Amino acid sequence: MRHRSIAIDGPSGAGKSTLAKALAEALGFLYVDTGAIYRTVGLQAFRVGVDPSDPQAVIPLLKALDIAMKYGSDGLQHMYLNGEDVTAEIRRHEISAFASAVSAIPEVRAFLMEQQRSLAREHDVVMDGRDIGTVVLPGADVKIFLTAAPEVRARRRWLELQQRGQPADYETVLRDVKARDAQDTSRAAAPLRQAEDAVLADTTDKDLEQSLALLKLIAKEHLAHG
Ligand code: C5P
Repeated sequence: MRHRSIAIDGPSGAGKSTLAKALAEALGFLYVDTGAIYRTVGLQAFRVGVDPSDPQAVIPLLKALDIAMKYGSDGLQHMYLNGEDVTAEIRRHEISAFASAVSAIPEVRAFLMEQQRSLAREHDVVMDGRDIGTVVLPGADVKIFLTAAPEVRARRRWLELQQRGQPADYETVLRDVKARDAQDTSRAAAPLRQAEDAVLADTTDKDLEQSLALLKLIAKEHLAHG
């Protein structure tokens, strides 16, 4: 049976993970958070203490890297780095910049590509990331480009960090959001951009419930016509 796929791309803080997860649940699809995979590589670079933007330092790490993804009984996607559950650790604020830096290295992207594609071959998926509709699953049944104003995204990220007990200063979070946007959209390898056939969903003035309703509508329409 051919599996169906929904690709959700967009900048950080647009609500991708929360919405993609909720959409997957509503449809009975598997939710795949590809940012978590890049974060796991970023964490390894952080731990080893290498410059995450230096390909000469990062590429050799890939050989010894065992990244696994397992779904717990809680339905959550757990990430394992060489056998260790790093699901919580990869969410630390300082790991975001490391993930963004290592993800600009083409060899890192190539290394992680097959893992992402094979999940989509084996399951109906809602996959979120930066290049899912453009590079990883160009034939996805539904493509959504989810975005919101940088200030709104920074506020959401700030709240999220607060709730996780990792308070940060709002101005710092906003600066980091803008820096990550710049890095993700300007890189040569699979830059963040809206696929030509993606539907734009702007959540600046929408709460979670309204955003989810919009996504469900887009998914329903495109799956029915696919
Ligand atoms: O989505 P999240 O913020 O967790 O992703 C962390 C970083 O990983 C992003 O800033 C981006 O640079 C990178 N990433 C990517 N391609 C993806 C998913 C994430 O380059 N498909």
